[in-house]
This record gives sequence, structure tokens and C-alpha cells, in this order.
Amino acid sequence: GWPPWHVKQIRRWLLRRRADRFAVMTDLPRQLRLQLEAEWPVFATEILSHQQAKDGTHKLLFALADGQRIEAVLIQEGSRRSACISTQAGCGMGCVFCASGLDGLARNLTRAEIVEQLVRIGNLLPPGERLNRIVVMGMGEPLANLDQLLPALDLATSTDGLGLSARHITVSTVGLPQRIRQLADHGKPFHLAVSLHAPNDELRSRIIPTNRQTGLDAILEAADYYFARVRRQVTYEYILLRGINDSLREAKELRQLLGGRVALVNLIPFNEVAGLPYRRPADAELKRFVECLRQGGLRVKVRKRKGSEIDAACGQLRRRLQPTEKIRLADRSDTGPSADRRHGPLALERC
Ligand code: SAH
Repeated sequence: GWPPWHVKQIRRWLLRRRADRFAVMTDLPRQLRLQLEAEWPVFATEILSHQQAKDGTHKLLFALADGQRIEAVLIQEGSRRSACISTQAGCGMGCVFCASGLDGLARNLTRAEIVEQLVRIGNLLPPGERLNRIVVMGMGEPLANLDQLLPALDLATSTDGLGLSARHITVSTVGLPQRIRQLADHGKPFHLAVSLHAPNDELRSRIIPTNRQTGLDAILEAADYYFARVRRQVTYEYILLRGINDSLREAKELRQLLGGRVALVNLIPFNEVAGLPYRRPADAELKRFVECLRQGGLRVKVRKRKGSEIDAACGQLRRRLQPTEKIRLADRSDTGPSADRRHGPLALERC
């Protein structure tokens, strides 16, 4: 029964003025304020844990209304204030090295649950500072929940929403070709990051099971479509797992695979996950891999580690706070490092 313009006022209070109660929204009619305060909580999630690292990284663990748990992170670097947000509770992709998917997918998040992470993370900043970047790299596969993610990002980019630039929003995907095209057709210049992680289908299918149905060709074609349509350089993420995908042979293959594309390779040394057998490469090996890609003319960056003392990498905090469950390794043993150690002979190989 209230006029619709009050929505705009409430939105402003929540998204811009950090209100945590309806009672403080003084430009609303008193009656409405009281009614809202009596009937609704402002936030639908509860913060179960808030950790802060020395480098300015904060991590929040949320309980959703149905008890599911998700994580979001604030990363601060120079003038960048980035929120790393989740799109699903758990994940159904089953990448063997990732903590988020160890227990499978519970459910998609709603657009409100996605926006709420942004608001809560933004509210951690001191007055006068605001979020200016979003990386959709938390728990879950964002493109498997595009229907909820897009309206949330539209609110993040709208001038009466959070007012962020679409160019400062990165969506990271395991590589769902149809959905990559849909994102390209959405018409906003989001930055696309594709989790490649291996330069051939044989190896990629072993560490990313969904690759068996998709295959690298279809993913690269969709990413090329994205670049052609959106005119933004695509980033290819490549996690480095010692003894599995970090040899010069893979570096050379990757060079060939991506050669000729306007692309950035973002190398991510593996963040160790309790219970998983994978390790990150030694610094010398990482350097060798980087150099080999650069010699091939690729642009390469190595992802910096942030918030390591607070389990800031995706899915790790949630796991640590559920200590009763056992991590299932049974169907992962064939990709453990011991199954595939090739460093001996390859150490002599040249790029
Ligand atoms: N589902 C999306 C978002 C996942 S999280 C995707 O697959 O891209 C963002 C990145 O972190 C992905 O590249 C993912 O493969 C990587 N990742 C997952 N677990 C990791 C770990 N333990 N160490 C380093 N990177 C990890």
C-alpha cells in the first residue's frame, strides 16, 4: 500500500549509506519504518565468522537462511577495493584441486544473497571508501547460475545501485561455452576469465571432470566469440600443480594453444588445501614456466597470494569450520602427484 518511490530510498540506504536497520532510514514515513522494522530483518544472512589478515584481506563466512554456508572476501591492493563473491553454496564442477566442490553442489544462490555479500563486504571499508572491483571467483560456478548473477551484477553497475564500472567486474568460469556466449550477448563489458588449467584435453579432463563433455576447442571458440563481441581481452587462468601441469612441455603446449590470441595468462600457484595431495611448484619451476610463456610472446601475470593466514582461498574456511566431515579422495587418487611425477627428465628440457 505504500508508494513505490520508497523502494528507491530504501535501496539507497542499504547500498550507499550502510544502514543496518530500517529505524535509521529517516526519510521514510515513521509508520513505514516501524512496520518494516517489525516485519523484516535488513539482512537475510548471518555472519558466522569475520577474519582479517595483516595485508588488509578480510574474509566473511555467512550462514544463509536455510543454514547453507558461503564465503566472501575483501581484497585491498593500492586503490583497489575488491570483493570476491560466491554464486553457489558448494559447486558441482568437481575440479579435483578445489576445496569448494569437495562436497558437491548444495544450491544456487539467489540474486539477493549475491548482492548481500557485496553490501556486507563494502560495509567493512572505512567511511569514504567504496568497493570498486568485483571478482566472481568465490564458491561455485558463476555461469551455472547466470540467471541470478546477471541481475545482481546489473544492480552492482547501476547508478542507483552500487555504481561500479562493468569493466571492473571479472567473471571466472570453468568454461561453459553456451553460457559464455550468453554473457557476451548481455552487452556489458565484464572481464571474462576462463579457468584453463591444462593445455590439452587429456590432462584437462583429469583435473576438471566437466571437460570430458565440453572439450577445449568449444571453450576457446566461445572465448573468442566473447572477445569479438565485447572487445575485451580474455584472461586464461592456469593453476600450477606441481608435477601435474607445470612442466615445460605444458608451457610450450599452452603457448601453441593460445598463440595469436589477444590474451593474458594468469598463473595461479596452487593454494594448498588440507586433505588434498597437490602441491605448488617451487619458485624456480614457476619462473621457468613464466619465462617459457613469455618467450612465446604471451602476456603473463602470476597471481599474488593474499590473506593466506586466514584461509582466504575459496572454500577453505567453510571446510575448516566443518571439521567432522571427511574429505573424499577415493576418485581423485589417479591424479595425485605420485601418479605422475615427471620432473626428473623434464628438468633438463629446454623451452
Ligand atoms: N568456478 C569458477 C570460479 C572458481 S574460483 C572457475 O572455475 O573459474 C577461481 C579460480 O580459483 C579458478 O580458476 C579455480 O580453478 C581456482 N582455484 C580453485 N581452487 C584453487 C586452489 N586451491 N588454489 C589455487 N586456485 C584455485
